[in-house]
This record gives sequence, structure tokens and C-alpha cells, in this order.
Amino acid sequence: MTAQIIDGKAFAATVREKVAGHVTRLKEESGITPGLAVVLVGEDPASQVYVRSKGKQTVEVGMNSYEHKLEADTSEEDLLALIDKLNNDPAVHGILVQLPLPGHLNEDLVINSIDPAKDVDGFHISNVGLLGTGQKSMVPCTPLGCLMMLRDHHGSLSGMNAVVIGRSNIVGKPMAQLLLGDSCTVTIAHSRTKDLPEVVRGADIVVAAVGRPEMVPGDWIREGATVIDVGINRIERDGKNKLVGDVDFESASKVAGAITPVPGGVGPMTIACLLANTLTACCRANGLAEPDGLTA
Ligand code: NDP
Repeated sequence: MTAQIIDGKAFAATVREKVAGHVTRLKEESGITPGLAVVLVGEDPASQVYVRSKGKQTVEVGMNSYEHKLEADTSEEDLLALIDKLNNDPAVHGILVQLPLPGHLNEDLVINSIDPAKDVDGFHISNVGLLGTGQKSMVPCTPLGCLMMLRDHHGSLSGMNAVVIGRSNIVGKPMAQLLLGDSCTVTIAHSRTKDLPEVVRGADIVVAAVGRPEMVPGDWIREGATVIDVGINRIERDGKNKLVGDVDFESASKVAGAITPVPGGVGPMTIACLLANTLTACCRANGLAEPDGLTA
């Protein structure tokens, strides 16, 4: 079998188009422009790249982008004061604090100081609780992107066996909640899981979010399964820098029914879902109908 490639780049473009169309109508009909504030503390090069890309794509879909770049030694008090200001700014519908934060700042405290209705990353404890109890919440962008691709590929996910490898708060756990919400039978695997290959072999859907290059080989994958590879790992091969996922694409794509590539799979969906979440937050804040197909 040769797997169908799930093209995250193309899918993300359709999500952005949908968001842009809705933003245009929102502006015409109500004069409201959704706004996303991104806060970056320090000069971590990867974070700078992400923040630039988020700002650019926000503007491209017709939203307002507000970038706040703070010095690496910014005090917790000053950061919390900025978040408070953004919480109370009616032009700001989404707030994202780029992680990781410098070590002297308490990430949990900072994230939980964001107004949950503006928490477009979906990391606030209230949103985690709402998602866990099946209520309307802001959903973390990466797992939301994975869910959208799975729904697009399968239609209904009901009754499917899903294995999520990884139990982080930003990917693994919310991914498992979303799959459960779509009536999958969900197993969460992690570093202490016994006989991981056998666990993965039972899956119709495998979501790998581990952070270990090409850890999941094709012979762990059930024939015809759908494989969503969240991993982004930089490796050196044949003297060149290369991005690879957590799944060994070459062997897995020979057995899987469908698979996301790295790069070009889950990655592009993450920012597209951030834009979708900002639009959703804006619609909710203004008591307007939410766009179809852009939330969980
Ligand atoms: P974390 O490091 O927070 O979590 C990794 C998880 O993998 C942990 O739960 C860990 O288990 C588990 N794990 C580690 N080793 C093994 C193993 N040998 N067998 C089974 N499970 C294992 O990572 P994240 O969730 O933040 O990210 C995962 C990957 O996804 C990374 O490559 C990251 O770069 C990528 N990523 C990609 C995004 C995108 O936009 N495409 C967005 C976010 C992340 P335990 O809890 O027991 O330690």
C-alpha cells in the first residue's frame, strides 16, 4: 500500500481563505476587525521566526496584528500589567504569549492571567477544563489542526481506535480529548508505556507527538491506518540539515492509508488554527455566529 499524503500546506491555505472570507464579511456587516496580540519576551531565534510568521499571516487574512516585544529581563509584574491591558482592550480579541518564557517568569501564572475568552492558544486552565468536560472552549491550535485534517479525511471518526503518543499539555492531552469528543476509543501512550509497538499496531489513527526523530517505524503501523505526525525534529543527514517528524515517513508511508509529511503536514495548520481561533474569539466576544468548520 502507498499512503495518501495529507497535504497540510494546502489544507492550511483553505482554512486561511475561509477565515479571510469571514473577516471580510464581518468588517462589512458589523465594522469589526478581529485583532490578535502576540507577546514575545526575549530574543529566542525560533520564537522570533514564529512571531513574525504569525504577524504576517494575521495581516494577510485581514485581521489586526499587535506585536509586543519585551526585553528578556522583563519583570513578571510588567508582563502581567501588559496582559491586563490587553485583556481590557476591546480591539484585541486574541492574546498569545509566545512560549517558552525566560526562566525567571512563571509560565502557568502568566498563561492563567490571560482572559480565557481571549486565550487563543487554549492553554488557560479554564479552557483546559472546558475542553475536558466537553464544553465550548478555546482549543489548542496544533491538536485542532490535526482534528480538522482527520475529519476532512475520514468524515466521522466515531468508533475508531486512536493512539496518541505523547502526553504534553499542549499537544498530547488536548489531542486525546478532541478525539474522545469525536467518539474515538483513545489510548494515550508515553515514555512509560509497555510494548509501544503493539499499542500502536492496534490503532486506526496514530498521532505522534513525541519529539524524537523518526521514532515510529512502518512495522508499528497497522495496514491502512491514518498517521498524523506532529513531530518537528532538526537532524543532520548526508551533511545537510533536515526536518523530520516522529514517524519514519519512508517505511510508514508504505503501510499507512494516509499520512502527514514533515514538513508540510501539521506545521502549517497550527498558525491557520491560531487565525481561526482569533476569529472565533472575536465572534463570541461580539455575540455573532461562529464560522462553521473552524472550531472543535
Ligand atoms: P513534550 O516534550 O512536551 O512531550 C513529549 C511526549 O513524548 C511526552 O509525553 C513523553 O512522555 C513522550 N515520549 C518521549 N519519549 C518517548 C518514547 N520513547 N516513547 C513514548 N513516548 C515518549 O513535547 P510536545 O508535546 O511539546 O511536542 C512533541 C513534538 O511535536 C515535538 O517534536 C515538537 O517540536 C512538535 N510540535 C509541533 C508543533 C507543530 O506546530 N507542528 C507544535 C507543538 C509541538 P513522558 O510524558 O512520559 O515524558
